Amino acid sequence: MMTVRAPRQPIDVIVIGAGIIGTACAEALAARGRRVTVIEHDTVGGGATAAGMGHLVVMDDNAAELALSSYSLGLWKELVGDAPQRHEYSRCGTIWVAADEEERAAAAAKAELLHAHGLACELLDAAALYRREPQLRPGLAGGLLVRGDGLVYPPKNARILLERAHRDGALLMRGRVRAIEDHGVLLEDGTRLQAAHVVLAAGAASAALLPQLPLQAKKGHVIITDRYPGFIQHQLVELGYIKSAHAASGDSVAFNLQPRPTGQILIGSSRQFDSTDTAVEPAMMARMLKHAIGYAPALAQLNVLRCWTGLRAATPDGLPLIGPCAARRGLWLATGHEGLGITTSLATAQLLAAQIVGENAAIAHDPYLPARFAQLRAAPEAPLHHGARAASGTPADDVQLSASAGMALL
Ligand SMILES: Cc1cc2nc3c(=O)[nH]c(=O)nc-3n(C[C@H](O)[C@H](O)[C@H](O)COP(=O)(O)OP(=O)(O)OC[C@H]3O[C@@H](n4cnc5c(N)ncnc54)[C@H](O)[C@@H]3O)c2cc1C
Repeated sequence: MMTVRAPRQPIDVIVIGAGIIGTACAEALAARGRRVTVIEHDTVGGGATAAGMGHLVVMDDNAAELALSSYSLGLWKELVGDAPQRHEYSRCGTIWVAADEEERAAAAAKAELLHAHGLACELLDAAALYRREPQLRPGLAGGLLVRGDGLVYPPKNARILLERAHRDGALLMRGRVRAIEDHGVLLEDGTRLQAAHVVLAAGAASAALLPQLPLQAKKGHVIITDRYPGFIQHQLVELGYIKSAHAASGDSVAFNLQPRPTGQILIGSSRQFDSTDTAVEPAMMARMLKHAIGYAPALAQLNVLRCWTGLRAATPDGLPLIGPCAARRGLWLATGHEGLGITTSLATAQLLAAQIVGENAAIAHDPYLPARFAQLRAAPEAPLHHGARAASGTPADDVQLSASAGMALL
């Protein structure tokens, strides 16, 4: 259990939000010697991170997505190391299921691209598909097995990342950020906290703190069953998932089945636009189940334990926002990860930390920079607060700021 206490020394970096993104950023920055304080008003890893399926998956809709997800998968393997149980990690691989010849052609194109990037995968004809996953309904055309994909239990990993950050001196502060200021934040209780850098990693709630963010909430439902060890072996995803994940409007469901290490089956998932009501919708749940049973008929015999929802934070181009944001001095964004934030959290953290400390990162950071959106390029109009000097032309690390006294800490 991590120690929680008042920051007694100047803070270099405030991280808003202790989801998988905020905790990964805290870990990467603390490992680089930065004094980090994470502010969270709720449970660590309790937001979209707890709602996510935890599928670690290489996605290749564009070169930037492929670069970020494949880099991050490598980081996950390093993090997990020889302790898969601690991380509730399983290298189950993904089978992209092709329903017909058109989807089989899409699988072949995907295989070619992944091979070109050195990623291990295998095209499956129908017989090979059924040998690996006999629960799938007859009549499918085949699939693509991507061997390096896996899964983790996301909230557990948010806690692990925070513990690692804590070992390097990071602190967790309980509180709700009401406003982001130049080089600092204002908390709900009126406390002001200052630092050279502020990282906004509040997931779908990020837009409440910075309304100009180009973020749209996409609600998702996930269902979990009782334990049925061996029911399936791989994460099974219909190739049509990609269409559903990138639709710009309308509600959709896609077949996405996951074998948890506990023997439970996660059944995903749905996408609904601009719904911030997190209530479970029985009609959506029924639609998902019907669709999933269409792919794996024996699911109809399993006991469903419960269903939950979460909000994905989606950008218009499907890529996250990672980098400086001109809306406030000292502000950095690590948000907008839509349905891929568990996978890409570790790469996000490395890219962000490298930019903050002025290192070269392992992959180019340009495609994810917030400045690709015009509204995030605007310079702040408000004067600097609290005597902070302008960071313009000055490494922001040089800005000496300290936490105000009397902070409410839990
Ligand atoms: C149904 C569903 C399935 C998914 N499946 C997968 C998957 O299989 N694989 C994958 O890679 N991704 C998946 N995702 C996406 C993934 O879960 C998210 O991209 C990721 O969890 C985002 O993490 P985050 O840290 O940005 O946000 P969150 O986990 O939401 O964390 C943000 C944190 O900020 C805190 N916060 C917010 N506002 C404030 C404030 N004002 N002050 C203080 N704290 C604040 C919140 O309490 C929260 O803890 C899925 C998402 C959903 C909804």
